[in-house]
Amino acid sequence: MFRLAIIGRPNVGKSTLFNKLTGKKLAIVDNRPGITRDWQSSKAFLYELEFELIDTAGLEESFNDSIEGRMRKQTESALGHADAAMMMVDARDGITPMDRHFADWLRGQNIPVILVANKCDTKAARSGIYEAYELGLGEPVPMSAEHGHGFSDLHEILKPYVEKAAKDAGPDPADEDD
Ligand code: GDP
Ligand code: MG
Repeated sequence: MFRLAIIGRPNVGKSTLFNKLTGKKLAIVDNRPGITRDWQSSKAFLYELEFELIDTAGLEESFNDSIEGRMRKQTESALGHADAAMMMVDARDGITPMDRHFADWLRGQNIPVILVANKCDTKAARSGIYEAYELGLGEPVPMSAEHGHGFSDLHEILKPYVEKAAKDAGPDPADEDD
């Protein structure tokens, strides 16, 4: 099954999208204080498409490492389990230095990247969409995870990946996938 990891700096809306597409509201934070799981995954649905979605935790919860080092480890860990990465930015905030760090690092990884500009439910987001082109990760997909806007565009982009993963997995005569 196709596996997609949502990555990006804290607060851009990664978990909001994860919850929307998986129907789950799982906390990424462990019960034990100070322990944060790096990522979680769940089966996700987008119209007829089924895939595995991976959410990554907020970096603000870790203090024992530099933000960049932590970000890299977490992202590496998640990407190791993924077929493609969805890099999410906050179009209202515009592109921040941390977004640029993320994008620079990600471009060096051998994984397809889908760039998403979230929070496009206000006019303030418009300039952020154009800024997102500067990341060099291709055309950003405008989206509002909270309001469900841009999901049909996302569907168009994900469909070939999901279909290819299904094809690569081979035919399933017993039709008992999972
Ligand atoms: P994460 O840290 O990247 O996982 O971000 P969260 O999913 O926790 O969201 C951070 C904040 O952004 C929350 O207050 C969300 O309600 C808000 N948010 C997420 N998606 C959207 C969106 O599409 N539009 C707006 N306006 N706010 C959003
Ligand atoms: Mg989150």
